[in-house]
Amino acid sequence: MSFSALLLLTALSVDDPLPAPDPAITAEALSHHLHFLASDELQGRGACTPESARTSAYLAKALERAGVAPAGDEGSYFQSVPLLYTEFADTPVLILGETTLDRYGEQFVVRFQGAPESVRGLTVVVVQEEADLPAEPDPKVALVVQSSRSKGLRWLEEAGQENGAGWGLILRVLPTREAGSPQGVPRPGISTPEGAAAPLPEMVTVYGEWAERLWDGEVETVALVCNGEQKLVPERNVVGLVRGAGTADRPELADEVIVLSAHFDHVGVAPGDPESGEDLIRNGADDDASGTAVLLELAEAFAAGDKPARTILFLFCAAEERGMLGTYYFADHPTVPLESIVCNLNLEMLGMPDPIMDGPGLPWLTGFERSNLGPEMVRHGLSVGEDRRPEMNFFQRSDNIVFVRKGIVGQTLSTGGANPNYHQVTDEVETMDFAHMHACALIAHGAARLLATGQITPKWNEGEPKLGR
Ligand SMILES: [Zn+2]
Repeated sequence: MSFSALLLLTALSVDDPLPAPDPAITAEALSHHLHFLASDELQGRGACTPESARTSAYLAKALERAGVAPAGDEGSYFQSVPLLYTEFADTPVLILGETTLDRYGEQFVVRFQGAPESVRGLTVVVVQEEADLPAEPDPKVALVVQSSRSKGLRWLEEAGQENGAGWGLILRVLPTREAGSPQGVPRPGISTPEGAAAPLPEMVTVYGEWAERLWDGEVETVALVCNGEQKLVPERNVVGLVRGAGTADRPELADEVIVLSAHFDHVGVAPGDPESGEDLIRNGADDDASGTAVLLELAEAFAAGDKPARTILFLFCAAEERGMLGTYYFADHPTVPLESIVCNLNLEMLGMPDPIMDGPGLPWLTGFERSNLGPEMVRHGLSVGEDRRPEMNFFQRSDNIVFVRKGIVGQTLSTGGANPNYHQVTDEVETMDFAHMHACALIAHGAARLLATGQITPKWNEGEPKLGR
């Protein structure tokens, strides 16, 4: 869709009703927001869709009505995030030696990192061990690496070749995956214009028998044939702010900013036949309509309450599911000075109790052991747990990591570690536990208050933030 068409749609979008204004955080208001955000009408809130624009319009209206000041572009609640949207004219084909793999989704999938471009006649180099990685990247070579992030891709990153920069193609092999159903045409790719300016190779994941043959060095040459077009589509973050007033003995706190965040996008509609009557909408009730609803309630509570000492910025992030693109854009183009941001507390998947905890209403904080944030919350009487699944690496899997990469203490409050509906069409509002979510919202509010009053000054522990595993 063109830029002007999207703007028009936004302007014409129906005025989606908000709950009655109430500065108190209530389960009823959380439920109202969540029922709207996770409704079928919003089609799973995929980035760069009209439904995403309708979602951000709702959030902006909620902030305005709550009396939160706009903190986006030019006095508005919106920060434009230019994204490149790639559509495919036909289904990509992978040619290994003399054999053509044409069952997309079953034999292989492609993650496009830029404009779709065919590559031919590449020589295959298998990287089984870190020492196998050639020192200099070569655009005529297709690298074969394990699909595990902790191996091949990390070695590339450590060699200064993040996402395969400089190579002709990256083939990630996953022999253990059984052949699934073909997905047909790949889903549109979404990337940043900056990403397109520094072209990266396509990232292909190969499954089953051919993954094994590649890994065993049986394939000498490879080609990827694909064809499509890219256009610039605007997305937008929603940003509001409650200005701090400092305290009598610490007036400087007013210039310090706490960023509270949650991503409002989700993964949209699943591949399949829309005529079949089958439910294809991945509603994203827990991920992350729940965090978004909690953030709205926090914004309303802070706008109505006493002036905080520190300034609080509310960031509703776009396109998290496409690689945290909205948050990266915000961090690279912050609407407050980046050096004024002292902390990011991010909210992800707070809609269902986590069975690993001792009951409902008990969130955990990613990276608990890395900073004083979690321990200080606990010291002030908040039931915030440690992340009991460090092997899942949740610390790096949500928007907080964008702030961490800028040196800012950034952590995520969540109960989402074991949701069986994760990224499925079953992540529906009916699975939400609003009493649990309400309890989590009160804890998030308590934590944000400790930050806002200046009672907690976030600090990394010695040697942190260590990234990687
Ligand atoms: Zn999420």
